Amino acid sequence: MTEIHNMTVAELSEGLSKKAFSSVELTQHYLDRIQRLDKTYNSFITTTVSFALEKAKLSDELRTKGQAGPLTGIPIAHKDIFCTKGVKTSCGSKMLDNFIAPYNSTMVSQMEDAGMVMLGKTNMDEFAMGSSNETSFYGPVRNPWNVDTVPGGSSGGSAAAVAARLAPCSTGTDTGGSIRQPAALCGITGLKPTYGRVSRYGMIAFASSLDQGGPFAQTALDAAMMLNVMAGFDVKDSTSVDKAVPDYTKNLKDSLKGKVIGVPKEYFENGLDKTVESRVQDAIHVFEKLGARIQEVSLPSSPLSISVYYVVASAECSSNLSRFDGVRFGHRCEKPRDLEDLYKRSRAEGFGDEVKRRIMVGTYALSTGYYDAYYLKAQKVRQLIADDFKRAFAQVDLLIGPTAPTPAFKIGEKTDDPVSMYLSDIYTIATNLAGLPGLSIPAGFVNDLPIGIQLTSKHFDESLLLNAAHQYQLETDWHKKIPQSCI
Ligand code: GLN
Repeated sequence: MTEIHNMTVAELSEGLSKKAFSSVELTQHYLDRIQRLDKTYNSFITTTVSFALEKAKLSDELRTKGQAGPLTGIPIAHKDIFCTKGVKTSCGSKMLDNFIAPYNSTMVSQMEDAGMVMLGKTNMDEFAMGSSNETSFYGPVRNPWNVDTVPGGSSGGSAAAVAARLAPCSTGTDTGGSIRQPAALCGITGLKPTYGRVSRYGMIAFASSLDQGGPFAQTALDAAMMLNVMAGFDVKDSTSVDKAVPDYTKNLKDSLKGKVIGVPKEYFENGLDKTVESRVQDAIHVFEKLGARIQEVSLPSSPLSISVYYVVASAECSSNLSRFDGVRFGHRCEKPRDLEDLYKRSRAEGFGDEVKRRIMVGTYALSTGYYDAYYLKAQKVRQLIADDFKRAFAQVDLLIGPTAPTPAFKIGEKTDDPVSMYLSDIYTIATNLAGLPGLSIPAGFVNDLPIGIQLTSKHFDESLLLNAAHQYQLETDWHKKIPQSCI
């Protein structure tokens, strides 16, 4: 039998229903692994041991009563950006180091209602700003494939935890690539749903017009099972979309014959590591073998996406983060002289350098006289980027490309050069600007480090994305590889 921690969510679900093991046993197994191995990876900020065992016991009782669903009793780790009632929710920041959320985010409630067992809260870049998980107040996360390298960011803890088999699945958020890029660098599957498909209620806001929560798991099938629970309208989130939720596991077996997959030529022009490129070409051949037709397309405005993103995201974050003022949430400075001193020192002490950089850029871009030149202009270019996708999707069903330009880089390699760090998201950011869904799946190795390919579809076409990823995973076994030190 496969070691229990190497099983997928689907396999664990079957094991639980056949009573091969109980949820309490399963949960204890993961908690033991976290305790033993996570000193190295630092993928968790908080573990919720007694809460998890209590939940696991309850889920076993539900099963005895015949009331278990497919995810009942399965452990999960949540990114520490999701509010969890009674549990510290830090967002990777000193600012919220003492913040105990008074309510659950919708995402957390949905997983809990499905009977899932929360193991703890995962490490992340501070307020989800980063591509390497090095901006966390709680220290960097280490990539289980090579502990001298980064796991990607900002959901690096969630990705590393699944890669190291410290959790069978986890949640993340993706504002410019933070699910897909760490999934690629850690060799797992990560899905960013269409903007509005999954509720953002209780997910601490970074850039509200771009943020979207989604699943990390070993396989597309597991991601589909999770999306079945996450997706849907939420009265508490005015941007969530009231649209029927299909069963995302239903079409996974469909053939890809006749599907047209577009290859954006701009993705292969500059900055893409040659060995990563050849893995992407290999993946394209697999899709051809599966019956898909490959067609070159052009996304002419996509090279502008990083510049647009850093204006829009910074502007929105400067507004969202103004709520952290030392009065209502989190960190407050010692002995403030007056109100202004309270604001200034609480924010100066509570936020890290990257967060401060974004707040300053965003405040500048929104200020009188510069609003039109920067923010408004960026929104116009954003529309051009969205139009590119619209044109491409008039010809093709899916787009394929690299998820990130290189495999995992060394810890510290890019910390002094924010622009080179920002370029890690060159292939993922445009998807967020257009509100589209995207997914990264493992597609091979370069220098013993995993690399990912990204698939993008039309709005609300997650079924096709997952179908294509599942078919690819039936044909390949990259998603089954496990870091040597974690077996
Ligand atoms: N790396 C990008 C940034 O630093 C995207 C982060 C994200 O998706 N949360 O903003």
